[in-house]
Amino acid sequence: MKRRFSFLFILTLIALIFFFILRDSPRPPFAALTPLGENPQWEQLEKFQNSITKTEFQNLLEKVYTQDQIYQKYIKIFPTHAMIHTNSSDMQKSFRLNFSQEKNTKQNSNSRSSFGYWRKNPIQNSNPQLPLKGLRIAIDPGHIGGNYAKIEERWFQVDKTPPIKEGELTLTVAKILAEKLQDKGAEVFLVRTQTAPVTQVKPESFREVAQKWFNDRGRKNITETYRDPHDPDRGNSLQWRQEVLTYRNQEIRDRAKLINEKIMPDITLCIHFDAEYWGNPNNPILSNKNYTHVIINGSYMPEELHYNDVRFEMLFKLLSRTHSIEKKLGHTIAKSLAASTQLPATNYYLAGHQAKAMSKDSYLWARNLLANRLYQNPVIFLEAFVMNNPEVIARIHQGDYKGFKKVYGKMRKSIFREYADGIVNGLIKYYSDS
Ligand SMILES: [Zn+2]
Repeated sequence: MKRRFSFLFILTLIALIFFFILRDSPRPPFAALTPLGENPQWEQLEKFQNSITKTEFQNLLEKVYTQDQIYQKYIKIFPTHAMIHTNSSDMQKSFRLNFSQEKNTKQNSNSRSSFGYWRKNPIQNSNPQLPLKGLRIAIDPGHIGGNYAKIEERWFQVDKTPPIKEGELTLTVAKILAEKLQDKGAEVFLVRTQTAPVTQVKPESFREVAQKWFNDRGRKNITETYRDPHDPDRGNSLQWRQEVLTYRNQEIRDRAKLINEKIMPDITLCIHFDAEYWGNPNNPILSNKNYTHVIINGSYMPEELHYNDVRFEMLFKLLSRTHSIEKKLGHTIAKSLAASTQLPATNYYLAGHQAKAMSKDSYLWARNLLANRLYQNPVIFLEAFVMNNPEVIARIHQGDYKGFKKVYGKMRKSIFREYADGIVNGLIKYYSDS
C-alpha cells in the first residue's frame, strides 16, 4: 500500500512538472490561422471542380504561387485530382479538387465569369475617344495618412520641412488617376477618399488577440502603452500590437469586403510609394536610390502555406485565374510607368525580399500581400519612387500642379501626374491590344 502510494505520488509529480514545462515553454509559433484570419469555407472551392487541368494547376502552383516543393506537404497532386489539407492541426481532413481533362475556355467571356465577379474582357466596342469605356476599376490608395501616418509608420520629416506621409501621397495620385481614367470612359471607385480608416473597428477590440500574439511568441514583460511613436519599447506594448492589428490587418480586411461585396470591379489598382530604410522618422536617413516595380499575387512562403486561411485564399486566387491578366496587365503598366517616370526597376534579389521575378526586366514581381491575396479580382499593386530620396522629397514638396515646372534642376510634371499618367497609358495599351 505504501509502495503504491509513493508510485502514484511520483507519477503525479512527473505529470505536474511536465504540465509546468509545457505551459511555460514557447508554443509553436504558428497557429492554424493568421491573426484575424477567418476559418476558410472550403466548399467555396466547389465551383472550381473540373475547371482546371492538372498541368495548368501544377504550373500555376509551382511557377507562380509557391517557392519550392514544400507545398506538397499540404497539396498532393494525383493524375485526376488534388487532395488539399484543410486543417494544419488535423492532417486527416482534406478537400478533393477534380481536374478537368481538357483546357477550360469558360473564362473568355465579357460577362461575369463562373470564376468571379470580374470580367476578363469588359471593353466590347473599342472607342478611340473613350478607350476604357465599360471597364470597372477600384483604386485603393495605400495606407491612411493624416493622424494615422505615424501610427502606421508611414511618416518622416526632414528638418522643419513638411512631413512626408505615404497615405497622403497615394491619395493624391489616386484622385488624379480617377479623373484621368473617367475621362477615358472607365467607371472608377476609390476605396477611400479621405485620410481616415475604412474600418470602423477600434484598437480596443483587439486586446485579447494582441495578448495572445505576445504569448504565442513567448514574449514577456509586455507594457500596456507606449510613450510616443519613437519610443524604442513601442514594439513591446499591447497598444502597438492592437494598432497594427487595426490599421494594417483589419483595415485591409474591410477594404477587401468593400471591393469584393460592393464595388466588384474588373481590376483593382493599389497605389503605393516605395522607400529605403529611413531609421529615425524625425531624422531620416536619405537614399540616392530611386526605382519602381509592380507586384502581383504569388510567391507564397512555405511557412505561410501552413495557415489554413492563407492556403485557402491562395487556392481561391489560383483557381479564379486572375494570374494571366495580372501578369500581362502588370507588365504593360510597369513598362509604361517606367517610361513615364524614367525610373529603373527594383532589384528585389538584392533587397532580399521573398519575391519571385515575373519578368526578365525586373519590373514585375510576385509577392503574397494581404491586399493582393484578399481582393478577389486581378490586382495590380504599384510601387513607384523612393520616398526618402532627396529628389523625390523636393518633388513631393512642390505639391501637385499642371504642366511643367523646374524642380530639382529639371523641367518636369508633378510627381503625382507622372505616376498617374504612367498607369493610364499602360491601361489604354493593355485594353487596346487585348
Ligand atoms: Zn505602401
